[in-house]
Amino acid sequence: MRILLVEDNIALAHGIEVALVREGYAVDHAATVSAAEHILGVESVDVMILDLGLPDEDGLSLLRRIRHRGQDLPVLILTARDSLDDKVRGLDLGGDDYLTKPFEQQELFARLRVLERRNTSAHSALLELGALQLDLHSHQLRVDGCIVALPRREFSLLRTLAEQPGRVFPREELEQKLYSLGGALSSNAIEVHIHNLRKKLPRDIIRNIRGVGYYLRVEL
Ligand code: CA
Repeated sequence: MRILLVEDNIALAHGIEVALVREGYAVDHAATVSAAEHILGVESVDVMILDLGLPDEDGLSLLRRIRHRGQDLPVLILTARDSLDDKVRGLDLGGDDYLTKPFEQQELFARLRVLERRNTSAHSALLELGALQLDLHSHQLRVDGCIVALPRREFSLLRTLAEQPGRVFPREELEQKLYSLGGALSSNAIEVHIHNLRKKLPRDIIRNIRGVGYYLRVEL
């Protein structure tokens, strides 16, 4: 899950980002609407957390624009303004939920889980490839019907590969999917996750092309 956090209060944004990364989310942070637009243009974002009072433009203008363009990513609105009017306008413009500041981190996580579920139920919840079955709701993997426990990042990595079997993903792209832009990342993190995944999956399902990237090979 890749989250775009649009918030101009740097201390608050930093606190949220650290908490989300600890929960296993990949986070991009933008402090302005124009920075958010840039990230939306180059990244595939799963959920946006959107503050309304931003220095260059109102967050609601950004929301209106992305809905106008037909982008349907879930948007969680953050508002410091405890005004019913803002909440109603935000939801009318296509926001999915809102949270009034200040809020507890646990509440933020709970709202995100709801959006995540809504997001995956809009698509298919089960991804089946040969012996592999990924339940995108419960984040559960079954191999030949048996449950295999996977940490969140390994599941995300496998899901990325499984959504486009046969497509070769460069390591940098997989890193981007799993981690924050500019976030600290050991240089062999993807190799380590792949190594761990391979131990839990049937032989030779995850292939790599040296110097190019990784792909999933599945007999269908
Ligand atoms: Ca603000």
